Amino acid sequence: MSVARVIAVANQKGGVGKTTTAVSVAACLAASERRTLLVDLDPQGNASSALGEVKSTHHVYNALMGECELPDVVRSTDLEYLDLVPAGPDLVGAEIELVNTDAREGRLKAALATVTDRYEYVLIDCAPSLGILTINALTAAGSILVPLQCEYYALEGLARLLETTELVRGSLNPDLVLEGIVLTMVDQRNNLSRQVEAEVREHFADRVFKTRIPRNVRLGEAPSHGMPILLYDIHSRGAVAYLQLTEELLMGHAEAEGATPGSQEASDQPSTPREPLHSGDNDERTA
Ligand code: ATP
Ligand code: MG
Repeated sequence: MSVARVIAVANQKGGVGKTTTAVSVAACLAASERRTLLVDLDPQGNASSALGEVKSTHHVYNALMGECELPDVVRSTDLEYLDLVPAGPDLVGAEIELVNTDAREGRLKAALATVTDRYEYVLIDCAPSLGILTINALTAAGSILVPLQCEYYALEGLARLLETTELVRGSLNPDLVLEGIVLTMVDQRNNLSRQVEAEVREHFADRVFKTRIPRNVRLGEAPSHGMPILLYDIHSRGAVAYLQLTEELLMGHAEAEGATPGSQEASDQPSTPREPLHSGDNDERTA
């Protein structure tokens, strides 16, 4: 029986492309017939609306608070292999309500345990904060995927995020690894963008995905149509880039498992850690 790889898409900085990345990669995984669950863990509910989810009475909040089971809030989407756990605005309350609750950091992990045998991939779209919800995501995840927009303060924010993930690794989730850093909204003509990219690649070496996500207007439009980019405009540069990123991700997993992507072996293996998280210059991917 396979157990899903759980990937948290996180960066406490707002508007860097977390939701776009989570929705697009989830859709690309589903298009390649990987059973995928996207968990919206952001009270803004952007991932939910990007998949055309209209307001529902029960969502991830109710499962986290023990008011229902996670399978009760799973929704199907327009893609056969993609399911969604939607979020709603009352998820804001969870940040406060969970503080005085037993095992508050492990709520999502426990909830997900009821469904991980049904999926190959679970992607969690995190809110722009390092609060208890994001800590829940990092506790539940096997790896963290960090979208990074190439701007001036990007590296500063990244250092804080990696410190937090180290803390989670040291206490709540020793198996957490860095899936990789993905450069988003890249504008090749912009000097600063190129400089920051060079610095990130120098510092984090092959932990930065080769694929860059360009700034692409179609990616910005797709959510307002309630469609992932693959369904909205599969020929756009944004769609092509996310397909390529997903391919790179799958190749990395297949290599780590000693199999080729798409083979039975690749999809039936349980999640395996790829590398430690800390950001030492010599600490490159081992897989
Ligand atoms: P938040 O921190 O608020 O959750 P986020 O990190 O999830 O934000 P997104 O919502 O994915 O970021 O992106 C922010 C905005 O930029 C959105 O309007 C989105 O449609 C747009 N956007 C994201 N990626 C791209 C891109 N590559 N090209 C053009 N627009 C993009
Ligand atoms: Mg978002």
